[in-house]
Amino acid sequence: MQKDSSSVNVNAAGVAKNTYDAIVIGSGISGGWAAKELCEQGLKTLVLERGRNVEHLKDYPTATKAPWELEHRGRMPRKFLEENPLISKAAGFGEESAHFFIKDKDHPYVQEKPFDWIRGYQVGGKSLTWGRATQRWSNFEFTAPDRFGYGLDWPIRYNDVAPWYSHVEKFIGICGNKDGIEAMPDGEFLPPFEFNCIESHLQKKIKEHYKDRHLVHARWAHLTQPTELHLKQGRGKCQARNMCMRGCPYGGYFSSVSSTLPWAHKTGNLTVRPFSVVHSIIYDEQKGKATGVRIIDANTNEATEYFARIIFVNGSALNSTLVLLNSKSSRFPNGLGNDSGVLGKYVAFHLYRGSVSASIEGFEDRYTYGRNPTEPILANYRNLHKQDTDYFGGFTTFVGAYRPRGSEDASETELGAPFKSALSKPGGWRTYMYMQGETIPKASNHVRLSDTEKDQWGIPLLVTSVGYDDNDEKMIKDFLTQSSEMLAKAGCLDISPYDTHQAPGLDIHEMGGARMGRDPKTSILNGWNQVHHCKNVFVTDGACMTSTGNQSPSILYMALTARAASHAVEELKRKNL
Ligand SMILES: Cc1cc2nc3c(=O)[nH]c(=O)nc-3n(C[C@H](O)[C@H](O)[C@H](O)COP(=O)(O)OP(=O)(O)OC[C@H]3O[C@@H](n4cnc5c(N)ncnc54)[C@H](O)[C@@H]3O)c2cc1C
Ligand code: SF4
Repeated sequence: MQKDSSSVNVNAAGVAKNTYDAIVIGSGISGGWAAKELCEQGLKTLVLERGRNVEHLKDYPTATKAPWELEHRGRMPRKFLEENPLISKAAGFGEESAHFFIKDKDHPYVQEKPFDWIRGYQVGGKSLTWGRATQRWSNFEFTAPDRFGYGLDWPIRYNDVAPWYSHVEKFIGICGNKDGIEAMPDGEFLPPFEFNCIESHLQKKIKEHYKDRHLVHARWAHLTQPTELHLKQGRGKCQARNMCMRGCPYGGYFSSVSSTLPWAHKTGNLTVRPFSVVHSIIYDEQKGKATGVRIIDANTNEATEYFARIIFVNGSALNSTLVLLNSKSSRFPNGLGNDSGVLGKYVAFHLYRGSVSASIEGFEDRYTYGRNPTEPILANYRNLHKQDTDYFGGFTTFVGAYRPRGSEDASETELGAPFKSALSKPGGWRTYMYMQGETIPKASNHVRLSDTEKDQWGIPLLVTSVGYDDNDEKMIKDFLTQSSEMLAKAGCLDISPYDTHQAPGLDIHEMGGARMGRDPKTSILNGWNQVHHCKNVFVTDGACMTSTGNQSPSILYMALTARAASHAVEELKRKNL
C-alpha cells in the first residue's frame, strides 16, 4: 500500500535536505532542456523521473546487435503482443527497441473513446524513441486559429520564439537545407542528407506543376557535421546506420540522455531522481504559490516531498495535465491554476491517417548505398494566406523513395539458395507520401481524472475522451486526392491512397490540456508558459499548445522551454517569484 501523501510531515532539517532552487518534473525532450538551462544559470535543480535511469552508451543493450543476435530476429513473441496490444502498435516498436517503451498493464488509463497513448517512461523519456523530425513553425501557424476563427489566439508569435529555435538548433544539431519557404522557416542547419534519384525527380516534377508546393531536404535532429559544441557534448557524426530507436552510441541524434542531461550534470547543479512518480504539486495558500512537489517512490511506495522556488512541469502533454489536475487544494479544488475550468480540455493531436504509395519506372539503372535516417518534407501548402479549402488547418507531408532489397519473387520462396539469390536482386523503386495534419482543439476533446479508478501508486487514472471530427475527415480526403495527383503528375504507377482509420494517440503528437493564452478565463498558461494563477509553476511541454499546427512539435517544446527558463531566472532575480 502506498502511504498517504498527506501524512508526509517533514521536519526543518528534512525540508532543508529536500530543498532545491528548481524542480523539473520529467526528464524527456522538454524536461532535459529545462534541466540544462536552469543548471547553466546556477540553479540547483532536481529532476524527478517516474521511470528507471538510462545512461548514454551503458543502457543501449541492442545498439550494436546484428539481426541474428536478437533472440527473435527483431519480432516480438506472440505472448508479448497479446499482453501488449497497445504499445506494440507504436511506430518503431520491435524487439530491438521494446526496452524504451512501457508495458500496457503497468500503466493503465481509461479510454472513453479509442485512444492509443504511446509512452516511454525512463530517464530520457521519448527522446530515445522519437522520429527526430524538427521543422520550425511559421507565423501562419501561430496566427491561423485567430485569423480563421477556429480557436484561441496564441499569446506569442514566430518572432518571440525564433531566437530560441536558433538557440536549441545550434545545441542539438539539425540537418537541413535553407530553402526560403514561408510556410517552414529556415533554421541553423548542418548539411542535409541528400535526396535519392526518385526524391530529386519528385522535387523537380512538383516544382514544375505547382508554384506553391516545395519538396525539401529533411530537417532532422542528426549530426551530419558536428560542431565544436556537439563534440564538447561527447557526441559524434551520424553514421547513417538508421538504428536510432535502439539508442545511438555515437550520440548521432539528439536525445536528453546523450545531450542535455549530461551537459546539465557537468555544471554540478543537477540531481536526477529516477523511480519518482510525481503525485501532485504542493500549493501554499499563505504564500500564494507552489512550494514543492509530492512524489511516490515507484519501488517502495513511500511518499516524499521536495521543495523549490520554481517548478517546471515536463511530464509530456497528458501526464503534465494529469499532475496539474491531481494538484488539488482548497484554493484550487479542480486542479492547480484551474479557475477557468479549461484544464484538461482542448486536447488535440496530429492527423496521421492518410498515406499514398506508388511505384515508378525508368530508374532501374540507379541504386542508393547506405541508410538515410531522415525523410524529405513537402511543406504545407493549405490554408496559408487565406482559407482555400472546406476545412481548417494544414498538413506537412513526409515523402520518401526506396528500392527494396530483393526482387518481387523473393516473397515466393522463403528459404535457402533461391531466397538468397532473390534477395541479391534490387527490387523496383517505390515511393510514398504520408501526412501530418493539424487537428482543431475543442473543449469536448478532453482528459480528466477517473472518479473511481486509481493506479498502483494511488493516483487517479487518466480518462481520455478524444476523437476525430468532420474537419479531420475532409483534410484526409484532400490529402489523399492531392498526393495521388502529385504522384501521377510525376509519372508514378499503381498509386494507392490509404486511410488507416487508426485511433488518435497513435500519431504520438498529443497536445493541449493546459493551453497558453492571454486571458486567464480561457487558458491556463500565459505567454511565458507560467500558470496564470500560480506564477512559479511553468508548463513547457505539449500541454501548453493552444493549437497543433502541422510541423513536428518537439523542437517547439524545446524552444519554449529554453525561453521560459530564461524568463523564470529573470523573474527570480527580480524577486517576482
Ligand atoms: C515513435 C515516436 C516518434 C516520434 N517522432 C517525432 C518526430 O519525428 N518529431 C517530433 O517532433 N516528435 C516526435 N515524437 C514525439 C516526441 O517524442 C514528443 O513530442 C516528445 O518526446 C515530448 O517531449 P516531453 O518532454 O513532453 O515528453 P517525453 O519525452 O515523453 O518525456 C516525459 C517524461 O516525463 C516522465 N513523467 C511523466 N509523468 C511523470 C510523473 N508523474 N512523475 C515523474 N515523471 C513523469 C516520463 O517518464 C518521461 O520520461 C515521436 C514520438 C514517438 C513515440
Ligand atoms: S542513423 Fe545516425 S543517429 Fe541513428 S543510430 Fe545511426 S549513427 Fe546513430
